[in-house]
Amino acid sequence: MLINIENIHIQSVKTLSSNDVHTDILRLDLIHPVISGNKWFKIQHYLKEAIALKSTRLVSFGGAYSNHIVALALAGQQAGIPTIGFIRGDIQTDLSPTMQEAMSYGMELRFVSRAEYRLKDQIQASHHQSGWYWIPEGGYGILGAKGAADILRIYDTSSYSHIICATGTGTMMAGLIQGAYLPQQILGISVLKNHHSITQEIQTLLQEQENGLPTFQCIHGYHWGGYAKYQPDLLSFMQDLWHKEHIPTDFVYTAKMIYAIKDLIQKHHFAPGSSLLLIHSGGLQGNRSLPPHILPF
Ligand SMILES: *Cc1c(COP(=O)(O)O)cnc(C)c1O
Repeated sequence: MLINIENIHIQSVKTLSSNDVHTDILRLDLIHPVISGNKWFKIQHYLKEAIALKSTRLVSFGGAYSNHIVALALAGQQAGIPTIGFIRGDIQTDLSPTMQEAMSYGMELRFVSRAEYRLKDQIQASHHQSGWYWIPEGGYGILGAKGAADILRIYDTSSYSHIICATGTGTMMAGLIQGAYLPQQILGISVLKNHHSITQEIQTLLQEQENGLPTFQCIHGYHWGGYAKYQPDLLSFMQDLWHKEHIPTDFVYTAKMIYAIKDLIQKHHFAPGSSLLLIHSGGLQGNRSLPPHILPF
């Protein structure tokens, strides 16, 4: 199935709107049933550079359920450039659905031990061949942020007081900061535990702009134990959100972000009259790592 950017729309989230705070959500998850919205946007400028350089391979890194890897596999297939994924962990007899899907888009998978995986520079140095274009894990980098800035150009988003996203590497958030309009505020809900270096990692990706950049803040209290960790209450929240608003979420990123916003609104974090735009960054395929039939969507 092809990517369809035209499916993206803005939906109001009534059950989150309280205490005189209005909440909308930008449904990037609707571009494709498997490909994560933000990963697709983050890849686009890398892809352009790879094409300009006449690269013969797109190469990157990821785990067995990586949204980035499967998005890259499809992006490469559509651009006609073969892809290679260096995957964390020894090859399993049962490949994850994510890996099967990446292979179905023509990606070559190369499994590396967890110890090796930590040393990505060495993997790159020892495997590199001429014509290969390497994309950092998760699309982290200035070109990734540039792609994420385009997320705020799909619709006119200038009237919102806050733009809010889930934050992993911070690349999407850096893009939103660059793409937002003063005096909007950008809020990131970190899905990693105690990832306090994130502010610096985002700062590294920001390029000076004439009128200055919007202010931003990362919030750290909503990781549910760490990356890809969850508790039953998070799953109940996801079920509830689906029944009330028909918004499917993933347990790694978007559910933690929306839960946090609900909580922050209830705790009067936002001034009355605030108007929030949440970014639904996709990632639903990651739910395939949960036990089967646990979610209603
Ligand atoms: C990767 C991902 C994020 C986090 O994006 P970063 O740019 O790494 O901060 C958020 N949501 C989803 C669904 C993702 O796949």
